[in-house]
Amino acid sequence: MGYAEVSVNSPVAQRRTFSYAIPPGLGIDVGQAVWVPFGDKLLQGIVLELSRYPSVEETREIADVIEPRPLLSSSHVLLARWISEHYLSPLFDAVALMLPPGFERKVITFICSPLTAHEHDISALTQEQRNVLELVQKQGKVSLRKLEKALGKKKAQTIVSQLVGRGLAVRSYELERVKVRPKEELYLSLAVKAGEARQEAARLREKRAIKQAALLDFLAQQSEPVPWVEARQRVNCDKAAANALVSKGLVTAQHIEVKREPLSYQGITLSYPLTLTAAQKSALERIQSSLLQGAEGRASPTVFLLHGVTGSGKTEIYLQALAEAVRLGKRGIVLVPEIALTPQTIERFASRFPHKVAVLHSKLSLGEQFDEWQRIRDGECDVVIGPRSAIFAPQPDLGLIVVDEEHEWTYKQQDKSPRYHARQVAIRWAELTGAVVILGSATPDVETFYHAQRGDYHLLQLPERVVPDEASPLPLVEVVDLRDELKAGIRSLFSRSLSQAVAKAVASGEQVILFLNRRGAASFIQCRSCGFVFRCKRCEVTLTYHFDKDTLVCHQCNYRMSVPQVCPQCLSRRLKFLGIGTQKLEQEAGYTFPQARLLRWDSDATKGKYSHWEILGKFRAHQADILIGTQMIAKGLDLPLVTLVGVVSADTGLNLPDFRAGERTFQLLSQVAGRAGRGILGGQVIIQTYSPEHYAIQAAAKHDYTLFYDREIAYRRQLHNPPFTRLASLVYSHTNDALCQREAERMRRLLIEERDSKGIADLSLIGPAPAFIHRLRGRFRWQLILRGSEPSAFLSQIPVPQGWTVDIDPVGLV
Ligand code: ADP
Ligand code: ZN
Ligand code: ZN
Repeated sequence: MGYAEVSVNSPVAQRRTFSYAIPPGLGIDVGQAVWVPFGDKLLQGIVLELSRYPSVEETREIADVIEPRPLLSSSHVLLARWISEHYLSPLFDAVALMLPPGFERKVITFICSPLTAHEHDISALTQEQRNVLELVQKQGKVSLRKLEKALGKKKAQTIVSQLVGRGLAVRSYELERVKVRPKEELYLSLAVKAGEARQEAARLREKRAIKQAALLDFLAQQSEPVPWVEARQRVNCDKAAANALVSKGLVTAQHIEVKREPLSYQGITLSYPLTLTAAQKSALERIQSSLLQGAEGRASPTVFLLHGVTGSGKTEIYLQALAEAVRLGKRGIVLVPEIALTPQTIERFASRFPHKVAVLHSKLSLGEQFDEWQRIRDGECDVVIGPRSAIFAPQPDLGLIVVDEEHEWTYKQQDKSPRYHARQVAIRWAELTGAVVILGSATPDVETFYHAQRGDYHLLQLPERVVPDEASPLPLVEVVDLRDELKAGIRSLFSRSLSQAVAKAVASGEQVILFLNRRGAASFIQCRSCGFVFRCKRCEVTLTYHFDKDTLVCHQCNYRMSVPQVCPQCLSRRLKFLGIGTQKLEQEAGYTFPQARLLRWDSDATKGKYSHWEILGKFRAHQADILIGTQMIAKGLDLPLVTLVGVVSADTGLNLPDFRAGERTFQLLSQVAGRAGRGILGGQVIIQTYSPEHYAIQAAAKHDYTLFYDREIAYRRQLHNPPFTRLASLVYSHTNDALCQREAERMRRLLIEERDSKGIADLSLIGPAPAFIHRLRGRFRWQLILRGSEPSAFLSQIPVPQGWTVDIDPVGLV
């Protein structure tokens, strides 16, 4: 008999697998999804390994196979194990990243009569027990959920246990219905010859059955079955007409499985490779030779850092490198930050690889995601494009992985386990599959650039923009010191410089982007008498004022309240709106530039599925003069009419207690500055700030990555921050603040004891301290930070109790 090591979908399984015996007759492979008994439940599991001996003495048997075809390849199994070990996540969480969307299903418990019925004395039963027994006998089986609803959870479970204990009932298990099924559509076709159909149509017309006649004529012109929805649109007919034709035997109706293709509503025009500039050419040649070596299985995988300002032609290199991979019989995965997954981006890939691009997108319906997954696994797509989770797409023959805007923080999954970084996973995945990786950025992550400088990655640089006419350099950046404006008595959100520039641009028929560092970052209400600020009672963060609904909103937990008339602390009526949000900015821009047409783009305005595409489309079509938004507008757009970008306040974020605050600010400002002057009109950027001397602002204003990097890396070295060390953040959360603090202190002692007993010298502990957001959704949070060369390996040896969240290589400390 053989055995399988199974990763089980249970919270108690954590980072280990469990041994199960393979019953005779059941063919089991690595990567296969199976049902296994676990305690008194039946759970999903994925087979990670086959062995001749079990790892424990007593094993149970695998109950059944869920899907005959393995869902994970053996290299995906290795990747899942690596993620679980490196990020200290439960193994099944890592495995689940690679399963088809909608895969996880629940087991429903039923209560039935036993097969062998005995004579029973039911007089000893209580009335409730008798009622349940009667119901089960009458209906054959009853779901436990139904009993729980009727009797309450505890009582239902007790009664069922008692009946089962007496042998009067048994439990059985069934699977919840599959959440996602292939989509079927109704198709119509002729059941008779076309000539005959036409004659029949003429007869029907005489009998005034006009709709039937029209449909029949239409179908007679078609060479293939036609979707019913299309037929109904093309000829004016209804379901009754179609049914009549089917019952007369003239037309056949059949359900055909269709793919829900998210690109289908866009017309695709083919595009061709551009003639590369010298810099592009030499970069592409290096990548091509690595791809060739990889395809021949000769070389160890290679990571390239493609560093080039916005508009320097990086995307064109991705496209041509992908084409080369395809030529070599390989396929590619392209990761983009979710916010950059715009129609423009998708179009560029779809038009170079028509009908060969799969898009994975969290805004797709589950059904669409499922179909794309299947299509990819069947090898139908040359290129898969999507946000961080697309790295787990079942793309066969992987030859190239592109991580565009590799410095973006959205590549790190922060809100749930596994807390992986897609860039890190991409590099590991390339090692396992022999693929080549291109990391692209105008403002590389400091750690990535450090690796490139050390020679761990190959550095490819595109120092200049590819421009339609050589006279258009990077935009001029002016830094406005807001302290001078205050001194001059200017209280507007717009400095003199910025308002003049906006007015001039709008008057010349050009477009303007006004950028705020964070949505509603400081749009709050304060009492002018006592200084009271409205905060969320549960989260302690400042409540943001929303103009349109006249409400205060907590952006952590979504708590909402209407705006009070008086201060709750001192009863004063002198409440004042402070700070700026996108809505406030929109309002003030309306006063200041009454002749301009405004458009606002932030995540409030883009909750719907396609509304951000619509907003963008409107702006591109010049239906507005000024676009107002948050970091979402900072990337991915190519807007030739934009000649001015104004950063209304550059300081938000600069003073956060996080060693990456400078890097973050530099990246954002550089991205925003890159928006202007992409067309032949050239461009100008105005940055308003209270700290114009800060190196991040200075470097962004000069478009000088090296200036920023040299300062930043020196600070990192001096303060022992990454990339010179690695971090792990441990957060404990609980409704009781004091308990939270005690647990954090206990953990600190435990960690120090463990470190000292192992004699690890290079591991230091910071904290415990209240987390930056001390209270979140009603729970207090305390944080410990571990810094050293291998915090992950160290922590993996330590039991971390429930209530703790461990984040390895966190991207932010707040
Ligand atoms: P990036 O990805 O670095 O922002 P893109 O690849 O989007 O740069 O290129 C910027 C613009 O220049 C695009 O409009 C693109 O079509 C164009 N472009 C890129 N490479 C070339 C080239 N070799 N010749 C002409 N135009 C190019
Ligand atoms: Zn007050
Ligand atoms: Zn809140």
